[in-house]
Amino acid sequence: MIIVMQPDADEAAIQAVEAKILAHGLQVHISRGTERTLIGAVGDERKLEPEMFDPMPGVEKSMHIVKQYKIVAREWHKANTVIDAGGVPIGGDTVQVIAGPCSVETAPQMAAAAAGVKAAGARLMRGGAFKPRTSPYTFQGMGVDGLELLRAAAEGQGLPIVTELMDARMLETFLERDVDVIQIGTRNMQNFDLLKEVGRTSKPVILKRGMSATLNEWLMAAEYVAAGGNHNIIFCERGIRTFETAYRNVLDLTAVPVLKRETHFPVIVDPSHAGGKAWLVPALSCAAVAAGADGLLIEVHPNPCEALCDADQALTPEEFSKLMTQLRGVARAVGRDL
Ligand code: PEP
Ligand code: MN
Repeated sequence: MIIVMQPDADEAAIQAVEAKILAHGLQVHISRGTERTLIGAVGDERKLEPEMFDPMPGVEKSMHIVKQYKIVAREWHKANTVIDAGGVPIGGDTVQVIAGPCSVETAPQMAAAAAGVKAAGARLMRGGAFKPRTSPYTFQGMGVDGLELLRAAAEGQGLPIVTELMDARMLETFLERDVDVIQIGTRNMQNFDLLKEVGRTSKPVILKRGMSATLNEWLMAAEYVAAGGNHNIIFCERGIRTFETAYRNVLDLTAVPVLKRETHFPVIVDPSHAGGKAWLVPALSCAAVAAGADGLLIEVHPNPCEALCDADQALTPEEFSKLMTQLRGVARAVGRDL
């Protein structure tokens, strides 16, 4: 960290800054220029924050010089990390597709969804048992019964399962039911206590981008999971809020190459929650694979009109199968399998 002193900062102000740096166990490097003094804090500066220095007398501004995330940074880990998601590698040469309904509803719905997504080539199945709904009066998910229906349907097709955890109090249940991949939704990306809890497990975590989160905030959220010891992280871009209201969210595809440059962990894309309309899903999916996504998370329902959640964005198994054929061509064009 560098602390820039005001031109008229006196010796006492410089010494106070120096003392604070030393008190945090870092070394001090002072550079006295003709107009102002720069104070460098040398050592693990992640313990320091600009707000620790900015209000001090004589300080003009202070800034980090290294990134605040470390375990997730490619800077420290050059090779791509491939995550073992219930036996399916995510982050390697193959673009992996996770598909299934927004929410688990009935056994026949899940059986039909599982058969449809498996036949089309999806490698993991999704389904929400605990749903983060905007209104408390709408369907909230089936809860633990939903986890069981998801597991049974997916197991019937040999697919590992992905499902959202909203509350740390349910983590034990997720572990007992051996959920293969825990999804942290957009609304919980900065639920730091929840991130710490999943960080204590070794389960792969799909960390969706907060709908208004910057890439730095997203990477720092992942660092919470990683700092707890869980290095099985998959980033998922799912669209962000902007001034545009013509579609549900804006799929930020620029985030894919930028994030892949910043982190060694896989980056996948959820075109369903980004577009919010089934007809938009194919174009967004193709674009995501072309942009370098390591996987896709797509909502598929055997009968979208009857879906209890996100009906407008679910593909039918037939539409999904057609899309998978199209995606194989796109993946091939960018040197990947699907
Ligand atoms: C979901 O995947 O069903 C979901 C609720 O996603 P998001 O957190 O991206 O809104
Ligand atoms: Mn949904």
